[in-house]
Amino acid sequence: MKPCQPHPDSIHDFPENALAVLGIPLDHNSSYQKGAALAPGKIRESYFCESSNLWTETGIDLGNLNSLYDAGDVDCSDTDNAFGSITQTIGQLLGNNNKIISLGGDHSVTYPIIEALAQKEPHLNILHLDAHPDLYDNLDNNPLSHASPFARIMENKLAKRVVQAGIRTMNGHQREQAQRFGVEVHEMKNGMDWLTTLEFQGPVYISLDLDCLDPAFAPGVSHHEPGGMTTRQVIDIIHAVKGKIIGGDVVEYNPDRDIGSMTSMVAAKLLKELIGRIYQDHIIGTNP
Ligand code: MN
Ligand code: MN
Repeated sequence: MKPCQPHPDSIHDFPENALAVLGIPLDHNSSYQKGAALAPGKIRESYFCESSNLWTETGIDLGNLNSLYDAGDVDCSDTDNAFGSITQTIGQLLGNNNKIISLGGDHSVTYPIIEALAQKEPHLNILHLDAHPDLYDNLDNNPLSHASPFARIMENKLAKRVVQAGIRTMNGHQREQAQRFGVEVHEMKNGMDWLTTLEFQGPVYISLDLDCLDPAFAPGVSHHEPGGMTTRQVIDIIHAVKGKIIGGDVVEYNPDRDIGSMTSMVAAKLLKELIGRIYQDHIIGTNP
C-alpha cells in the first residue's frame, strides 16, 4: 500500500483501476464517546508493523501489488461539510474505476460512502457486521448519528439488500425498523450457521464495525458489547461469504479505548484480508 498524496484539487492524479485505502477521520456523530477520528493513522501503523508481514492468509503478497495504494484522508476538518466531502471523494475515486476500502471514523461515515457508491452500483448488497443494527430513526436528535446509517441507506433506497450479522443489542424500535426496511438480521444468539447458506447476487459491500467482535478480542471500541464474534470468525466471513466483494469499510476503532495496539492490529489484519478478498474477486485492471 504505497502512499499517494496528489494535490487536493487534482484527485485525478490517483491511479485508475486500482484499490484505494481511504481514511475518514470523523467522529462527531458518535453518540457515547469520541476518539474514532484518530483511527486511520493508527490502523496504517499497525498494517505496516514489523511484528507481522504483508501477506494475506490466502497467499497474496500485499507488499507486491502495484495497484494497491493509500489515498490519504478525506478532509473532515469542517464537520458541517464532512459528509459532502466523503461523498465527493468516493465519487471521484469511483470515477477512476477504483475499488475502495475506507477506514473510519465512526459508523456514520457509511451513509455518505454508500450515497456515492449507489450511483455506480444501483443493485448493491451490503453485508453489515456489527453488535448494533444501526437502524435508529433518530438517536439524540441526530439523524446522522452513527446509530442510524442503515436507516438512512434504506430510506433512500441505496441498497437492494442488507444482511446484518453479529447483532446482540436489538430493541423494539430497531426490530420494527428492520422489518419495515426488509433488513435481514442474523442475531449473534442464533449462531453462525447463516454463513454456510448466505449467498449474494451482484456486488457486495462489507461494512465492518469492529464492535461486531467480542470486546475480549477488540477492546478498542466505544461500545463494549459482550457476546460477540471471535477474530477468527470475522476472518472466516471475509474469506467465505459467497458473492463478489466490491468494497468495504472498517469503522469504530477507537484508539483511546485500546489496550496497547491490540485492536489496531485486529483492524489491520481484517483490512489485509479484505484487500485480499477484493483482489481475488476482481483482477484489478481487467475486470472493473
Ligand atoms: Mn455500527
Ligand atoms: Mn456497533
